[in-house]
Amino acid sequence: MKEATSNEFFTDWKYAPAPESTDHIKLNKQYDLFINGKFVKPTSKKYFDTINPATEQKLAEVAEANEKDVDLAVTSAKNAYDKVWKKMPAKERSKYIFRIARLMQERAREFAVIESMNGGKPIRESRDVDTPLAANHFFYYAGWADKLDYAFPNKKPQSLGVAGQIIPWNFPLLMAAWKIAPALATGNTVVLKPAETTPLTALKLAELIRDSGLPDGVVNIITGFGKTGAAIVNHPKINKVAFTGSTDVGKLIQKSIAGTNKKVTLELGGKAANIIFDDAPIDQAVEGIINGIFFNQGHVCCAGSRLFIQENVADIVIGKLKQRLETLIVGDPLDKNTDIGAINSKEQLTKINDFIKIGIDEGAEMYQSSCSIPSKGFFCKPTLFLHTSQSHRIVQEEIFGPVLAIQTFRTVEEVIEKANNIPYGLSAGVWTDKGSKIFNLTSKLRAGVVWANTYNKFDPASPFGGYKESGFGREGGLHGLMPYLSF
Ligand code: NAP
Ligand code: MG
Repeated sequence: MKEATSNEFFTDWKYAPAPESTDHIKLNKQYDLFINGKFVKPTSKKYFDTINPATEQKLAEVAEANEKDVDLAVTSAKNAYDKVWKKMPAKERSKYIFRIARLMQERAREFAVIESMNGGKPIRESRDVDTPLAANHFFYYAGWADKLDYAFPNKKPQSLGVAGQIIPWNFPLLMAAWKIAPALATGNTVVLKPAETTPLTALKLAELIRDSGLPDGVVNIITGFGKTGAAIVNHPKINKVAFTGSTDVGKLIQKSIAGTNKKVTLELGGKAANIIFDDAPIDQAVEGIINGIFFNQGHVCCAGSRLFIQENVADIVIGKLKQRLETLIVGDPLDKNTDIGAINSKEQLTKINDFIKIGIDEGAEMYQSSCSIPSKGFFCKPTLFLHTSQSHRIVQEEIFGPVLAIQTFRTVEEVIEKANNIPYGLSAGVWTDKGSKIFNLTSKLRAGVVWANTYNKFDPASPFGGYKESGFGREGGLHGLMPYLSF
């Protein structure tokens, strides 16, 4: 605790609150299903509440799609594919995708605020990361739509038909963009289901798509629970499944489509190693570690949740990390000063707290920031675990929260072995002054993305995806077109 209090100069310094206003946000009391270009009542007649995880207040009611509703959505997507979208010249398709991107830019502030209200992430991130990146994905793939023959020369790429797309709650709008933009660019139509806790930006996107004039049925957005997702996956008219979520559900999906002609991409969990060598720029590395695990409350599949520090700089790095932890502001997601917002749901908070208890019971040393957290809403203090080892559950399992497990290492061989000794392989980070070390590690780490002297950087032109139990298939870039095409 000594290191933390020696930093009183920083911790005593308080920012005045700077909350983003919500006056301009118009949310309906109730949202229906977006099918065939219109919002329609669910045949289930059922609705469920969606809340703000920072206040636990209800924001709206959202329709629960049953199998019949799924059938209506898939049938509308199939009709739109056969009658309109498949036949449309690629350059016309491209114009619609551009229009969606432009409209998203125009309404960026509204999207950012709703994303923070419904998901709990700090407004700084939803404003500066999620929303602009989502618009950029539409811009990027709009550019590819009429260039597929150049992207895959002599291969005659063909669209597949109807894509069933299922997304999680950690990047609701961005994941919708990652899924919808390449599907449309390649000439497919879409049925998308957002996660049960974060449906609102997807429904706002449905309004935007309706306003864009996209032909009816090309994109259908339906809300519900896991059962709704399963009904999409199992519908016989679905030609392609694109899923982002947990490894457990990914495995279920793979089983249920075995023996069908459906193509699939799975973007699943992760447990990334962030590796700090003694020749790294230490202050930048500390910022990178903080960004790697506390960005978006650690609700990031590629979060740098395992930290490996070279032994001779471990004390320095850990000391600086503890100091930096004290300065992180945990609280109102709509406050522009907030670094760590609300945990997405009560269930997720329980899961994180259970893991913190497991870490303590396993004998690791816990260190938490001395900050206070709001009494209402779902919040978790940024947490470090020191003296962890490969056999600890907090090192092996995905926590999906602001919890960092720290180990030390001596040699390059040792850290490569430890970093790869895990069922996941989505991402990793390397911090060193030596380019040769970076290239050595990038070829040996079994991870889809390896960041060097930075962390959590995304770009629509760069492919993203996993090894091992982190799934297969790539999203983003030219590679992201392939899962939506046959050759
Ligand atoms: P999840 O339970 O797997 O849910 C993901 C989505 O699948 C949700 O829309 C969910 O609906 C739906 N679903 C649930 N059961 C289903 C089933 N049997 N068939 C079809 N769909 C089903 O995961 P989560 O808890 O929402 O998200 C956290 C996980 O996602 C973490 O493990 C994280 O690593 C992973 N993730 C991976 C990436 C990546 O790019 N690799 C990105 C983000 C998140 P409901 O919400 O309505 O239950
Ligand atoms: Mg669920």
